[in-house]
Amino acid sequence: MKNIIFIAPPAAGKGTQSDLLVKKYGYEHISTGDLLRAEVASGSEFGEEISEIMNSGRLVSDEVVTRLLENKLSTVSEPYIFDGYPRNMAQADILENLLKKLNKGECTAIYLDVPEDEATRRSTGRLSCPKCNRSYHKYNEATRPKVEGKCDDCSADLISRDDDTEETFRKRYQTYVENTSPLLDYYQDKGMLYVIHNPIDPNITLEEIETVIK
Ligand code: AMP
Repeated sequence: MKNIIFIAPPAAGKGTQSDLLVKKYGYEHISTGDLLRAEVASGSEFGEEISEIMNSGRLVSDEVVTRLLENKLSTVSEPYIFDGYPRNMAQADILENLLKKLNKGECTAIYLDVPEDEATRRSTGRLSCPKCNRSYHKYNEATRPKVEGKCDDCSADLISRDDDTEETFRKRYQTYVENTSPLLDYYQDKGMLYVIHNPIDPNITLEEIETVIK
């Protein structure tokens, strides 16, 4: 199985696809957003600083995020899903060097191409489990929880993210366009990019992903 780098606007379904790939193929899901949220949840002063940046829709510094990524990488084995990293060109260089240094296998970059209005709609219906991190979507029949507000796997009360308000979402989307979308040309030029246009049904999207990771 190839390692995966997901590139997509916020709320495009990276978390949902990651959950499916973890379950079916044992991928290690490395989400820098989750690593940062764990830091925030620890209640440290550093976590508070990070929380302000995240809730403003901007990017946390490359140095902080890379440190968290490196720590995580040292505890897990391939195949990996990189969800939310790299998010700019500097991080793409860092990741390439890191994987070379660690002598890791091939990556494929998968772009979930979701238009802005659809991503906005999805962000407002997004829910996640604070215990096991599983993602849900209350407006999507395939990914809504079986019991309203409860996790299918561990029955915990589902929560929505602090940065999924419409105002913060707009800023996050703008940050994505400015900083992250240039990565599409970068990976396209390297022959590493696979595009999934307007992914709607999570199971069909998974089947498409399966054609490129095997
Ligand atoms: P996500 O869960 O991937 O949507 O990330 C939530 C927030 O965490 C983002 O809006 C950023 O503020 C921050 N973040 C996550 N990953 C990165 C990254 N690779 N570089 C900088 N900031 C990040």
